[in-house]
Amino acid sequence: VGIDHEQVRREAVEILERMREKFMIPPRWKVEVEIKCPDKMPEALGSMSWSYLPNAHYFLSLRCDVPSHLLEWIIAHELYEAIMAPYAELAEEHIEKLPSKTAKHLTHTRHGDVRNEIIEWILPLILGYTRPT
Ligand SMILES: [Zn+2]
Repeated sequence: VGIDHEQVRREAVEILERMREKFMIPPRWKVEVEIKCPDKMPEALGSMSWSYLPNAHYFLSLRCDVPSHLLEWIIAHELYEAIMAPYAELAEEHIEKLPSKTAKHLTHTRHGDVRNEIIEWILPLILGYTRPT
């Protein structure tokens, strides 16, 4: 209650700019930042989505209650999701072809877990520190 979304957004945009440089993101990428309350995003502190990929238009959602010492980590994580977007789309396209709803759901979840693990493995190498607790 009462978290200033605009202030979180300003801080997030500043960190995002730094992370864009660190990850050498091409200038043509457009990354929009949206701050959401926990009830709008109960399952994660951050998420990344995108429109038609060749347009390089990405949407970063962050929860307003992200602890500020985690903000850089979360933003770097989501930026990496964007980098892996072409791969994620390919995989999801094939997952959609699975015959049953259960198989789709399980594979979708596993795919998310695998992406997560890859990113969390690589982030300490890029950022130079381990995930803050
Ligand atoms: Zn809020």
